[in-house]
Amino acid sequence: MKKCLNCGINVGGQRQQCPICQNSLTGEAAENYWPVQKKLKLQSFFYKLQLFIVLTLTVVSLSLDFLMNINTGRHWSIPVFLWAISLEMLLKHFIRKSVPPAAIVTDSVLHVCALLLLTSWYMGFFRPVAEYVVPIFITALLIANLVFTLTDKKGNAMVYLLVSIIIGIAAYAFLFVKKADIPLSYTICLMVSVITFIGICVFRGRAVRNEVEKRMNI
Ligand SMILES: [Zn+2]
Repeated sequence: MKKCLNCGINVGGQRQQCPICQNSLTGEAAENYWPVQKKLKLQSFFYKLQLFIVLTLTVVSLSLDFLMNINTGRHWSIPVFLWAISLEMLLKHFIRKSVPPAAIVTDSVLHVCALLLLTSWYMGFFRPVAEYVVPIFITALLIANLVFTLTDKKGNAMVYLLVSIIIGIAAYAFLFVKKADIPLSYTICLMVSVITFIGICVFRGRAVRNEVEKRMNI
């Protein structure tokens, strides 16, 4: 065991300095009290690495766009900046707390959809994104959340499935009220939403009722 000659105490583990006076310890290092969490260390390293790369790329694109004026009239680095910030915020949120997979997938898909709509509107390719990409993402989200709900025993996924059903129906209803030409993709999304809803009501009726009552504080 290591020893502090200054304080006259024994210090276990592999510390180099005395925890009280910060003096250098002498003697042989002992076994660590606690196992070193290698996995967590590695995770934190990769988190920092990706954060550094993303921030570097953002700074480079902002400089190319604004300082060197390499753009086609539209400042493409603004969406890059927006994507980088929101994806980093999402990642941080998921790392901090233990979030169920349904929450991770739902949050990510909805964030990406919002970013895609914003980016495509700003850069001038709104139509294909709004007509195809977003409804396909929402339909895929519905199916993913259905799988999570059917496989998750704790019932954490149900609320996310209900939210994605509401989004699927609301998107169609919005276009319907606006009397827009509704693309086939939104009709499919509506059908999948309604069929999924009927399916979980039939097979998991009690869980659906419990979830709704819990959320509405009945
Ligand atoms: Zn000491």
